[in-house]
Amino acid sequence: MTRDNGKRRPAEPSGRPLRLTPAETIPLNRIITSHSHENFNRCLQCRTCAAACPFSSAMDIKPNQVLRMAQLGLAERLLHSSTIWICVGCHTCTSFCPMAINIPAVMDALRALSRERGIEPAEPNILNFHRQVIDSIHRHGRTHKLGVMMRYKLTSGELLSDVDAGLRMLKKGKLELLPSTVNNLKQVQGLFEEPGK
Ligand code: SF4
Ligand code: SF4
Repeated sequence: MTRDNGKRRPAEPSGRPLRLTPAETIPLNRIITSHSHENFNRCLQCRTCAAACPFSSAMDIKPNQVLRMAQLGLAERLLHSSTIWICVGCHTCTSFCPMAINIPAVMDALRALSRERGIEPAEPNILNFHRQVIDSIHRHGRTHKLGVMMRYKLTSGELLSDVDAGLRMLKKGKLELLPSTVNNLKQVQGLFEEPGK
């Protein structure tokens, strides 16, 4: 403790001061809160989410770090990270979090923000997969798994990977050869239209 005008105040923390570059000081905290409807400022940094996440080892920024960086407005690093694409939205982290923070909603908000800003995704194949799934729902009102896999492979240039697994799934009847379409396709497709158009 040191004294200032006779009052006790905590000693300055030692170590390198945290400096934010101008590009990183955007009001990310406010933007994510409005996108995700989640108050992630409640995070205790207990790191339970990082320990529980089944994909944590593949992430360049752990889930608890994502929240801390979002609090600090470190937009550039977050929006260019692999983590926001690797998260599969399984909610394991939320179910273990002592504050029940909806981390997948924060990840969704970060992905949306990254697309809004036209940022090249760190994991383009994952974005491509999302696109093929959404496209299948738009065409048929539901996903046609074989179609999604074929389109993904054609567009990602990985035509021959996982062929064995695909053939085994076909043999076991896990993949339908032809797509089936929901009864009211127009209603589903209406969900894709922007309001007012
Ligand atoms: S488990 Fe919850 S409180 Fe703990 S670090 Fe993760 S988000 Fe924060
Ligand atoms: S929702 Fe995302 S961050 Fe949370 S446990 Fe699943 S993959 Fe990990």
